[in-house]
Amino acid sequence: MRILVTGGAGYIGSHTVRQLLVTGHEVTVYDSLEHGHRQAVPAANLVVGDLRDIDHVDNLLLVNRIEAVIHFAALAHVGESVTSPAKYYTNNLLYSLLLLDRCRRNGIQKFVFSSTCATYGVPEGSGGITSPTGNPVPITEGEKQNPVNPYGNTKLAFERALADYAGAYPFGFCALRYFNAAGAAEDGTLGEDHNPETHLIPLVFQAATGKIPHVTVFGTDYPTPDGTCVRDYIHVDDLARAHILALGKIVPGSKFAYNVGIGRGYSVREVIAVAEEVTGLKVPVKEGPRRAGDPPALVADASKIRKELGWSAKYNNLRAILETAWRWHKSHPNGFAE
Ligand code: UDP
Repeated sequence: MRILVTGGAGYIGSHTVRQLLVTGHEVTVYDSLEHGHRQAVPAANLVVGDLRDIDHVDNLLLVNRIEAVIHFAALAHVGESVTSPAKYYTNNLLYSLLLLDRCRRNGIQKFVFSSTCATYGVPEGSGGITSPTGNPVPITEGEKQNPVNPYGNTKLAFERALADYAGAYPFGFCALRYFNAAGAAEDGTLGEDHNPETHLIPLVFQAATGKIPHVTVFGTDYPTPDGTCVRDYIHVDDLARAHILALGKIVPGSKFAYNVGIGRGYSVREVIAVAEEVTGLKVPVKEGPRRAGDPPALVADASKIRKELGWSAKYNNLRAILETAWRWHKSHPNGFAE
């Protein structure tokens, strides 16, 4: 298939592009390189551009005879979305809507969208309200979507636009609701590189290696077993594979939405403890206040994607995921900038 991948030089995008190329797809990556890295997509046709330049995108759809779009390009920092909502509504919603309509006008019928567990907000029946075993109750796709931060709001609004388009036009989509993407390609050549880094796992490694003085635990008074936030960490290559499977399933009228996670939650303290095991290093930690917009616990029930797409997580525990992330971190302490 001829596929346009927006944000394809970013973290999840670049891992997906690699798998698309291996499976024989023709890929055009459209990335502003504001957050993405040219070195992350050495084998792809990279077009540098911004989604706000929608005529540029339109031209690519036409000239490259694109058949499907995978739309990663977005801002994805919960905390920043609370303080700068305008940035999020413009980048994540407005530009996505422009892209969607150009897809319609160019007769593109397949669209895969990077959605998020942040669309659930603080789910009823989970979100820190723990089961008798002390673990958060996993979230199914049937859970009410009620975001608690602007990031989640923009993603949910676009999911709704996709559903309306699929109801009215010859168009189908799959929204993949990512839990927490983590880890790096098994061969250590592709991984996470954000500037500035805000994500827990890379920061834990930076603290372990002395690059930063400590990692701050954002909140220790959540209604979770150890008081810190619980998240479901999913390996980036498992996440990438979900996109390939979704593409093969979408037909006009498809309105798919799938959770993608391993179905097990780890607290911030557990992440730090497992990182200490994997690295053999002590992680200096400071306890800090909660970060605005963070629900207490988000754990996926991913049985729907397993059943309907035949997907499964190859990396089904945090230790296996962190081992790949640590390998990348050791060989690329400054990310791609070497
Ligand atoms: N977190 C933390 N300290 C940090 C960064 C993150 O305690 O320096 C927590 C954050 O509150 C959340 C979890 O780690 O509960 C994962 O956050 P991250 O930013 O990695 O991903 P997000 O959940 O925002 O997608």
